[in-house]
Amino acid sequence: MTQLGTSRPVDAAGAAAIIRGADHIVILCHQKPDGDTLGSGFALLGALRALGKTARIECPDGFPPRYCFMYPGFTGEEQPAFAPELVVAVDIADVQLLGDLRPRYEGRIGLCVDHHPSNTRYAENLLLDTGAAATVESIYCIIQELGVGIDYRMAVCIYTGLATDTGCFRYSNTTARTHILAAEMMRTGIDSYRINKMMFETKSVARMELERRVMDTLEYHYDHRMVITVMTRRAIAETGVPEEDMEGIAAVPRQIEGVDVAVMLQQKEERRWRVSMRSSEHVNSSAACARLGGGGHARAAGCTLEGTLEEVKARLVEELRTELTPV
Ligand code: AMP
Ligand code: MN
Ligand code: MN
Repeated sequence: MTQLGTSRPVDAAGAAAIIRGADHIVILCHQKPDGDTLGSGFALLGALRALGKTARIECPDGFPPRYCFMYPGFTGEEQPAFAPELVVAVDIADVQLLGDLRPRYEGRIGLCVDHHPSNTRYAENLLLDTGAAATVESIYCIIQELGVGIDYRMAVCIYTGLATDTGCFRYSNTTARTHILAAEMMRTGIDSYRINKMMFETKSVARMELERRVMDTLEYHYDHRMVITVMTRRAIAETGVPEEDMEGIAAVPRQIEGVDVAVMLQQKEERRWRVSMRSSEHVNSSAACARLGGGGHARAAGCTLEGTLEEVKARLVEELRTELTPV
């Protein structure tokens, strides 16, 4: 985790006022983009364009085809070039999640809209609602404050952000407000069945093969309360699965009865591992990952560790000892 900065806390009205005061705006999405960061970014982009502002959206890892239904026709290339008056980060807990965009935008982010408890306060102004299931919940409030009507395309984006960050309204972050907003979005006529079928019920042959290989590495600790899986570079290369199609694999072993924490190690380089942690209500993933230099949510967090596979596994097992050993 990067050192904590200081941000001025703002509410939706405050965020809307900041946005109203700028005409040239850049929106930033996080590395390894998911439905929430992209949904937040494109819903806000739609609202800014409706207000007649000049705006563009950037993501260090580009815009994956998996989510292209949220941005039909958009390739990222036809966007206007300009020096921004305001940079808005959406669903980004830490500047390290800016990846290649970090050198260009670090220290220049005027507004961050987020819901991660581990947010490192890197932006000048911060709308942080840790009670929101997804950042799109706050984006919706900002759009309302801006006085822009939610159109069909914005509704698709907002609904997708809600659905993907809640595992299709199953995870413990789902609230009545989440369902009410989802229902509101459905009223605009969006095809929620189709969105959920694409996001949760469709896997490519290659993805299923990768999932099989990852599950083959299942390893238990602490009397089956912790499970570790590994996704090697070799498995990734041999199956040819792109990053955006790996969504959800880390969470599969949490389904195993009695498992309180599921850790997946994705090999980035020979000795560099992306840790994805998914937990039950008995383990705080955000706290554990923060101790290891990362962060996230209570039930879903991440960090990056260096070392051999055995070293990294041992470090994670040790890190979770107090949580998983009966007192
Ligand atoms: P992932 O396992 O990559 O899907 O990440 C799970 C959650 O933790 C997501 O909400 C991420 O945004 C968040 N997260 C992952 N890595 C970090 C990090 N290094 N710092 C802060 N949050 C993170
Ligand atoms: Mn996200
Ligand atoms: Mn999110």
